Parts: sequence; structure tokens; C-alpha cells
Amino acid sequence: MAPNPAKPRLLTGDRPTGRLHLGHYVGSLANRVQLQNTYDSFFIIADLHTLTTRPEPQSIREVPHFIREIVLDYLAVGIDPNVSTIFVQSAIPETYQLNLILEMLVSVSRLERMPSLKDMARDAHLDSMPFGLLGYPVLQAVDILLPRAQVVPVGKDNQAHVELAREMARRFNNLYGETFPEPEALIGNVPTLVGTDGQNKMSKSLGNAIYLSDDIAAVESKVRGMYTDPNRLRATDPGTVEGNPVFAYHDAFNPDQAEVAELKERYRAGRVGDVEVKTRLIAAINTFLDPFRQRRAYYSAHPNMAQDVLTQGIRRMQSEARQTMEIVRAVTGLSYSNEMFADEIDLFGEYEVTPVPVRGDEGPAPAYHPESPTGRGEAVPAPRRGDEDPAPTRDEG
Ligand code: ATP
Ligand code: MG
Repeated sequence: MAPNPAKPRLLTGDRPTGRLHLGHYVGSLANRVQLQNTYDSFFIIADLHTLTTRPEPQSIREVPHFIREIVLDYLAVGIDPNVSTIFVQSAIPETYQLNLILEMLVSVSRLERMPSLKDMARDAHLDSMPFGLLGYPVLQAVDILLPRAQVVPVGKDNQAHVELAREMARRFNNLYGETFPEPEALIGNVPTLVGTDGQNKMSKSLGNAIYLSDDIAAVESKVRGMYTDPNRLRATDPGTVEGNPVFAYHDAFNPDQAEVAELKERYRAGRVGDVEVKTRLIAAINTFLDPFRQRRAYYSAHPNMAQDVLTQGIRRMQSEARQTMEIVRAVTGLSYSNEMFADEIDLFGEYEVTPVPVRGDEGPAPAYHPESPTGRGEAVPAPRRGDEDPAPTRDEG
């Protein structure tokens, strides 16, 4: 089997900031696995999105490791690389191109109203909002529109981003003519899974996650350490089930709903202790994760497979992205630069590149000189006559 471009398209993905967890599964992965044969599915590992909060070289160096881990997670949960397209965002140069065009179609105040961005800046301990972080949902709209996707399976925290992508598609179509389908979010069975802290949504960055790749012992110790009903001191006190994270996980991962109903009833009546509720939950989660662990072990032992899956996925997505950008340049009119120079230069095809030395090949970086034209302290050439800046005038605004 191969991907089928005639089917309607689906796109979703993850930032390579860590391994995937139970929240990802119920919020998005379960729908991906279920829909991959109905839709021509694209799964993006959104590495450029990590730059919005972590642009330092130390963080960038960690990304390739997490890219591989996420591919293993995808294969482990049953995403089939023979029908689905798995690719890395930064390997698709058209991402940068479409991003600039879409940035013109949204207002700063619209982006400032996205609550997720303030949370992200806070969680990343940023004291001010980088321009690129404000553009996070625009870049996500690019990801969705490049393969011209119609459906986007995401968790509830991401719904507002898909709504923005929808608005941007509409705005683009109104300005330049019908080009993009208006994408729709598809929220998972559990819209937001709470973390083991019982406070925040389960998240890679908050240390409150049970990973799909956790072993039996890790699941046991994480569940044993979970908060339950804070007002219940003894097993004989009546307990509260609503909002209790242990029961939220039972609802999501214990297929024996009769057992869950019975545990809830005894919990409310003060006839069962936290220890028993947790022991049963540990068993349920371990049973749930077992097939994933087995598939993950198989693919980890065959690392070339993950590499091949990405190579194949990137090729497919590059071809889709090129087609989309050709359409975009044509409908916007921006194809003029290509037409003006078509005889001399192949602007958007393959062109010759002269290699430049990468820092590290050439010894330590020289000290930075902000006043010099190259930043490296060379002598500033004397201005030729006629080159001088015009005398500054007052009242420039
Ligand atoms: P980070 O902490 O780096 O933001 P994350 O754990 O929030 O990581 P993302 O990569 O931001 O994960 O999210 C990937 C997808 O998984 C999105 O569709 C998101 O809505 C969904 N998702 C993430 N966490 C949860 C959760 N706890 N419950 C439901 N869906 C989730
Ligand atoms: Mg997130």
C-alpha cells in the first residue's frame, strides 16, 4: 500500500521536545491511527516550532534525538508508514516561504488574544514575548495548509490554533481566489488529559507525564505517587471521584468499565483505599501500553527503519509543498520574480550552492564587533564621495 493523494487530507503532529505521553494518545494519536486509512494523512514533527521557545544551540542539538523518539512512538502506537506520510518540518523549505506570506494576513491583536501563547511564554520562563512565538499559530497554519489538509486531529489546547488556520485559509481565498480548504479540528475522546500532578494538563515540559514508552516499573511509581482526593485522609472517608485524576485515568485507560463503576461506588462510600484503586490502575495502564512497548522494541532494534520512514515522508511532502507554493505564487502574482529572471536563474527549482564554512571548521568564532560592517572588526571602508547618508532631518514620523 502507498499513500493515496486522491483521498481528503489530514495533518497533525508534535514538537520534538520529548517523548509522547498518554495525553497525546487520547488527544490526538488515537484518532490518527483510526483515520489513517480514510484520509491521506500527514504527520509533521514540528522542529521549527521548538525554536519559538528554545532557540539556543544547546536545545537545537537535542532535537534529532527527539525526532527519532517521536517516530518510534508513532510506529509503536500503530501509525502505518506505508499509508501515512511522516516528515520533519525543517526539511520542507516551502514552510519558511508560505509563513512569510501568511504573516501578512493576520493582525497582531488577533494573535495576542491567543491564550496558549502567554501560557507557553510563562512555561518557558520567557520574560517577554518573542515575535516568532506570537507567530506560533501562523506557522502551524502553514503546516496545515501546505499539504492542503481538511482535518486536524488535536487536543483541546490546540483547537484555537486550528480555528486561526481556518480564518487564514478563508482570508487567503478571499484575497487571491479559492486555494486552500478550510481545515477543521477533530478533538480526541479525552479533550485534555490531566497530568499525574492532578493540576495541569499532562505535558512533556511539566514533568507530570506517563510516557507511552515508560516501562512497568515507571508506570507503577508514577501512579503510586499520584494525588487523589486531597480531602480524604482514611480509606473509610467518603471520597470524591469527580476531578480525581486517578479516576480520570481509569475512565480513559481501563477497558473494564464495570470494574471502574464498582470502584467509584466504593470510593464514594468510603469502602476502598487509594492503594487498591491505584493497583488496579497500574495493571490497566500496563496492559494498555504493552503492545506499544513490544512494537517500540522491535523498531528500536531496527533504527534504519525510522530513518527510511522519514526519508520517504520528506520526499512526498517536499513534492506536495512545491506544488502548493507554485499555486500560491501564481494566484498571488508573486511568480513575477521567477518570470522576470527565468532565462537566467531557476529561482525555485534546484540551484547550485557554494558551500560556506560552518563555525567550528574554522576555529573559534572571532569577537563580535557591532560597529563593523561584518560584525567581525574589519576596517570600515571610507565612504566614497556621494555615498554619505543624507543629513538627518527632524520630524521623521
Ligand atoms: P510541550 O510541553 O512541548 O508543549 P505537549 O506535551 O503540550 O508538549 P504538544 O507537542 O504541544 O505536546 O502537543 C501535541 C498534540 O498533542 C497536540 O494536538 C495537543 O493538543 C495534544 N496534547 C498534548 N497534551 C495533551 C493532553 N494532556 N491531553 C490531550 N491532548 C494533548
Ligand atoms: Mg503543548
